[in-house]
Amino acid sequence: MMDLEFDKNHIWHPYSSLINPPPVYPIARAEGVRIYLEDGRGLIDGMSSWWSTLHGYNVPELNAAMQAQMEKMSHVMFGGLTHEPAIELCKKLVALTPEPLQKVFLADSGSVSVEVAIKMALQYWHSQGRPEKNKLLALRNGYHGDTFGAMATCDPVTGMHHLFASQLTQHLFAPAPEPKFDEPCTDADIAELQQTIAQNREQLAAVILEPIVQGAGGMRFYSPDYLRKVRELCDRYDLLLIADEIATGFGRSGKMFACEHAGISPDILTLGKALTGGTMTLAAALCTDKVAEGICKGEAGVFMHGPTFMGNPMACAVANASVDLLLERDWQQQVNNIEAQLIKELAPLKEASGVADVRVLGAIGVVEMKAPVDNRTLQESLIERGVWLRPFGKLVYAMPPYVISSEDLSRLTGAMVETLSSL
Ligand SMILES: *Cc1c(COP(=O)(O)O)cnc(C)c1O
Repeated sequence: MMDLEFDKNHIWHPYSSLINPPPVYPIARAEGVRIYLEDGRGLIDGMSSWWSTLHGYNVPELNAAMQAQMEKMSHVMFGGLTHEPAIELCKKLVALTPEPLQKVFLADSGSVSVEVAIKMALQYWHSQGRPEKNKLLALRNGYHGDTFGAMATCDPVTGMHHLFASQLTQHLFAPAPEPKFDEPCTDADIAELQQTIAQNREQLAAVILEPIVQGAGGMRFYSPDYLRKVRELCDRYDLLLIADEIATGFGRSGKMFACEHAGISPDILTLGKALTGGTMTLAAALCTDKVAEGICKGEAGVFMHGPTFMGNPMACAVANASVDLLLERDWQQQVNNIEAQLIKELAPLKEASGVADVRVLGAIGVVEMKAPVDNRTLQESLIERGVWLRPFGKLVYAMPPYVISSEDLSRLTGAMVETLSSL
């Protein structure tokens, strides 16, 4: 048996306490859409291990890609050297993303790709002779990662980082988008954002946002019309637009990239989470020719970033295999089916007394409760029903692997309906 006592006393988990740690469950292996506890019980993974395991676990194609690459070279520095897996992956990313995004920086985690995106924007304006354009405009309820630069763009309240406020770069914030996914965006909905941009255009480098789906900061879906208007404002007032698609990228919202709902293209795009199909850590920041040229014609002459494990060949190889699988398996149909089933099967919760809202977009189903849930008891009753979810505050949500069968998805939604309707 695993030494859970040691774990409890010595090991940090995400956002965890070492004085009063909540239970962590010992996982021995994972297969398909199930993670298996040490005692043999299988749990349907409703979280895709935080948006990442699109194809489920222990996927032969992904294993084979890692194995083959491992036998050639598991790592080599990227400074002054290059390799086939990176070239192939960057080709795929340039081809898949909106046309103006042509240049790729491979980073080692989502937060780092956000740091890279921010540095790109700052270096761009510096090299244009406008170093005073060094602030970002972010949205309330936004989440962009845990490192210092990324933290400074998270919602100061829901972003879990207000503790560090005095150490963080002070950026500007606009209200969270109000119009819902299927609603138009009125002039009033965008007025405050527009005013903040107009008043601060001389010092604003970029707007940073999660297109269409605000994830960890509230699981909110907003109007494509709003996103289009932000793009227009960025053009009008000479700001770059950074789209953080670390959570939404690779089909999760029902489009390959959430920006496609609005038909817009950002100047800088970050990708992560699902990039390797949930096998290894890898992220990317893409930018346009204009941004790249601007950066490289500036004082430094180069882009000032280069992590030790940049472009790790194993991660690139498995990312290639994951993207291939995604395209081969008709992800669009899979996500559409999941969406239709989530809408139908979560609908009964709309009538439940403890429930404030039920919303579904793509392969994301969100139940917002009226009051914060007791995670520990809720998680236990979900586990008794063979389901793994990680509720957060008032939010109980599912974003299953795209390969989930309709029977397993029914078990997942059934467990949600049973446990939440009685609360
Ligand atoms: C998860 C996430 C990040 C941070 O990625 P990490 O890999 O956890 O560093 C940044 N932005 C968004 C939108 C995310 O969902």
